[in-house]
Formats: sequence, C-alpha cells, structure tokens
Amino acid sequence: MRFTQYYVPTLKETPAEAEVISHKLLLRAGMIRKLTSGIYTYLPMGLRALNKVAAIVREEMDRAGCLEILMPSVQPADLWKETSRWESYGKELLRFQDRHGRDYCLGPTHEEVVTDLIRGEVRSYRQLPMNLYQIQNKFRDEIRPRFGLMRGREFLMKDGYSFDRDDEGATVSYRKMFDAYQRIFTRLGLNFRAVQADSGAIGGSYSHEFMVLAETGEDTIAVCESCAYAANLEKAAVVWNGEVCTRECSGVEEKLTPGQHTVEEVAAFLDVDSKKILKTLLFVADGKPVAVLVRGDRELNEVKLKNLTGATEVEMASPEQVRKWTQAPVGFAGPVGLGVETVYADLELQGDTDWVVGANKGDTHLVHVDLKRDAKVTGYADLRDITLDDPCPECGGTISLPEGIEVGHVFKLGTKYSESMNAVYLDENGKEKTIIMGCYGIGVSRIVAASIEQNNDKDGMIFPPSIAPFEVSLIALNAKDEQVMATAEELYEELRSLGVDVLLDDRKERPGFKFKDADLLGAPMQVVVGSKGLERGILEIKNRRTGDKQEMDLAGFKEAFMTWRKEVYAQWGLEA
Ligand code: ATP
Ligand code: MG
Repeated sequence: MRFTQYYVPTLKETPAEAEVISHKLLLRAGMIRKLTSGIYTYLPMGLRALNKVAAIVREEMDRAGCLEILMPSVQPADLWKETSRWESYGKELLRFQDRHGRDYCLGPTHEEVVTDLIRGEVRSYRQLPMNLYQIQNKFRDEIRPRFGLMRGREFLMKDGYSFDRDDEGATVSYRKMFDAYQRIFTRLGLNFRAVQADSGAIGGSYSHEFMVLAETGEDTIAVCESCAYAANLEKAAVVWNGEVCTRECSGVEEKLTPGQHTVEEVAAFLDVDSKKILKTLLFVADGKPVAVLVRGDRELNEVKLKNLTGATEVEMASPEQVRKWTQAPVGFAGPVGLGVETVYADLELQGDTDWVVGANKGDTHLVHVDLKRDAKVTGYADLRDITLDDPCPECGGTISLPEGIEVGHVFKLGTKYSESMNAVYLDENGKEKTIIMGCYGIGVSRIVAASIEQNNDKDGMIFPPSIAPFEVSLIALNAKDEQVMATAEELYEELRSLGVDVLLDDRKERPGFKFKDADLLGAPMQVVVGSKGLERGILEIKNRRTGDKQEMDLAGFKEAFMTWRKEVYAQWGLEA
C-alpha cells in the first residue's frame, strides 16, 4: 500500500476522551473512530489489524476441526425465555420489538441460537461430536463502556460451541479448545496466562480465562510464584491454616460512633486496627436475607457467596431492607441481635475474638464481641478475595496479584442449555440422551487493544508482526528525489512479491514527520531509503521493538531482509 493512496488520519494531540493508552493510540493512529458510546468504526488501518487477528483465530479453529457458521445477531425473545435468560440477563441485553410487537434482542452471545440450531439438526450419536463457531459482532449494553475497543458495546467476538455425546467427550472437546487457544494467543504475540475461572454452581463444569498481562487490565488474577497455579480473583481459593481461637474477651460494650460509617472512620474514631472491625454485609439470595461477616481490611467475594448459597441471584440488600432487618439506619449493621437468620462468616474469623461490630442502632458500635458467645453464625466459609498475605491454595507458595485483560474464555457448560432447550440425540441403543455442551469465546476486537496495552512506548504502538496492519514501514526519505523514489518503488515491489505486507511512505513530507508516523503506527520493521545512504549503496533498517538500527546493503537486499525478518519474528516468539 502507498501512503498517498491510503487513508491514515494520524493525530498529533491525544484526544481528551481516551483514558487508556490503547484507546489513545488507536485514535491517534487513525485506526478507529467513535460513532457513539462504545460503538466504533474501523478505518482501513484498524480493520487490517482486526482482520489479521480474526484470520489467525479462524485458522486455528479450522485446524482444530471446528466448523465456521454465521448466525443472526437479531434473536427472538422466545428462545431466551426457554432458558430463562430473558429475565435473568439484565440490562446488558438490548431488547426491542418489531412492527408486530414481538420481542427481540441483539445477540450478546449465542448459546440459545446455536442450541436451537442443533436440536433441529442433530438426531443421532453419529452426528456427534460437533463444534461450531462464528466470528461476529456482539452487542452488550455495558453499564460502563470505556477504554475504546477494550470494553465496547458492539464488539467483534469469536464464539464457538461444542456438542458431545457424553461428559468424557465434552472434556476432550474442552481440552482441544484449550490447546487451540494456547496456539492462537501465542501466534498473536501476546504475553498471556490461562487462569482457572469460576464456573458457578453447574455440576461437572469448569472454565478457564485467557488473560493478557497488562497494568490497565480490569481483572486481577492470582498467580503463584512457585507452582503453576493461576486463577482469577473470583475463583482463587483462600486457605486458612490458623488455629481456632479459644481466648475469652470481656463483655460486650456499646460505644457511640456518631457519623462514623466506613471501616477507616470507625477504626480511627475508636483507635483500633481495621483488622479488628467486622463488616456485616447484607444480601438477598433468591429472595432470602443473608448476612456475611468479613474482616474490615478484607474484600467480600460475591461469587463465592453466590456459590455458597447456591442461589441463582444474589443482590445487595436495599436500604429499606437493611433498615428493616437491623432496625437501624444503614451503616450500623452487626451480628449481635440481627434480624437475619442466615449469617455466614469468613473462615479466618474463627481465629480471633474481641471484635468491633455495628450495634444495629444508629451511631453506635459494639466492642469486645465474641462471635461464638454473642452472635449466631450459621457457618464459616471461604468468602473473601485472596490477598498477598494468603498462601497459594495448591502449594502454599507466595501469591502475586497482577492485572489482566480477559481475551478468551473456555467453558464446559454441561447440559445447562441443552436440558432447558431439549437438545437431545439417540444413542447406539436408540435411547434419548441430552447433548453435553461447551462454549468458547475470544474477544477479537479487544485483542487489538490488549496487544497495544502490552506493547507500546512514548512514540506509539509496537505491533507483533502477526497482527501489525503492515509488517514493514518503507520510508522514502526525500520523496522529491527521483532516485530515492525509484529505489523505494523497487523495494516495495520486491517486498510485495515476497508476500510481505508493506506500507510505502511516499508522501512529500519532512523526514522527522514520517519517522514519527512510522513509530506511531507501530510496524515492527522499518526500512528507510535516503539519498545519502543510496550514495553508499545502503539502506537503514530499524527494529521498532528494540529500537535497534542497522545499515543494510542494497545489493542482496532480498536475502538480507528475509533473514532480518526471521530474527524479528523470533523475538516475538513467532515463525516468519
Ligand atoms: P468481561 O468479564 O470482560 O465483561 P465476559 O466474561 O462477560 O467479559 P465472555 O462472555 O466470556 O465475556 O465473552 C468472551 C470474550 O469476549 C471475552 O473473553 C472478552 O475477550 C470479549 N468481550 C466481552 N465483553 C466485551 C466487551 N464489552 N468489549 C469487547 N470485548 C468483550
Ligand atoms: Mg468471560
């Protein structure tokens, strides 16, 4: 491609609307433009990167034996009612009606549609296993669309679904997808980690997320420094090895704490460590009140709570409910004399006594509380987020908590959808059996952003060669110089004949301006043709990632370039 015939509207200034680096750079490099909140147009450069990601995903899915289909994005409500997700999916599901007043939604995912397809197609065990996928725009009315392509409302996803005869087969399909994902994210040049993810309360199901490690990640993951353990925060188990406390403390006393609501405020006001304060959090689990106690310096893990209760929906209690159950204003709930029957406490609370808790009375806290003596605890369980102080649940080693961006998700579903939608087949004996499913997502558009988050510097993007819009920026330094232009044109044709993606900067602009754009656009290889170099029969080459500059002889360019290209690919862990 020639720059003068292309459209690359680069910007000098960083647009104010962008918070994270990938969003800033995608806008500055003229790769995307915002239409409205969370919805973007891909300009030519952006679309090239997106298409390259999609092509790698497609190749590896095909290699793994999956079949590509394309399902509609408009989906009838009736299917969603069959699985009860019409009610449970929440506001992310964009619903609308057609001219006949019938309900529809824009597909945020396609379990319902694909299960409907399969129940109409599959009759016999001979047709299974089957694995179908598509690459298609999804719509989720995200509460906080932000960070550009990272969390959009309309975004490109690869979603795949496996259908098996039995659990064993489903495990094989899952494994196949897991391996395909490893290959995909490796080929995309990403530094990633597969982590265990929560799979809810569905029996026999399991799940992994693929996380790109980056400071701007919205997810925290727990990684063991000693063993292979890695899990997302929702899932990471907290092991408590402490001893059950047998110490006694003096009797409960009321303390006035006017206007002191947060743990920090109460700790400062009563001059105690926040570790000695218990948070009493009130929830409604499938309509039933539940209270949870965790230490003041800890974070409750709602997924763990949900799994413990076995409820399909767990919500924070409303202020009215809090007032009703505590007979007090919001902010003073406590386990002593609480009007809630089910009270769960985090495991580690067994290891201490003499707590400070809310008094179920305005502006008042209780001190010297012993949970065994003064409260009714239904049970102790792992209910909080893992921290740096906790041991690895598998080997006891040290945990670190890096940030990650979820780019893929594999999920063994079991019969969640096939059962409610009656997707069955006849086995060898003519007996009807429920199909076992798995689902597998990849955030194709999010990957473009995640790659930039992981690889950038003050000058711009640094793309891995596999997904760079162009592998090579070929810069004709003085485009007015006939010899420079002639040589650049020759190299351009040569590179193209070698199957190398090249963007020839043939603009009549100052060298500094062109260098800046080349750095911003992030092609991993730069080749510079200048009149001074040509006098000596050389070109200048630059590795965008390392910044390493070298001279390359014009004579024998093809071979020398291809050797260098191999080296650059290898630095990204890729094969040229
Ligand atoms: P998240 O937790 O980030 O909201 P999710 O778990 O809801 O994602 P999945 O349903 O697992 O997402 O979808 C599969 C993949 O689609 C995710 O791994 C992610 O890469 C991508 N994805 C999900 N939501 C968005 C979004 N709003 N914008 C861009 N990509 C997304
Ligand atoms: Mg997910």
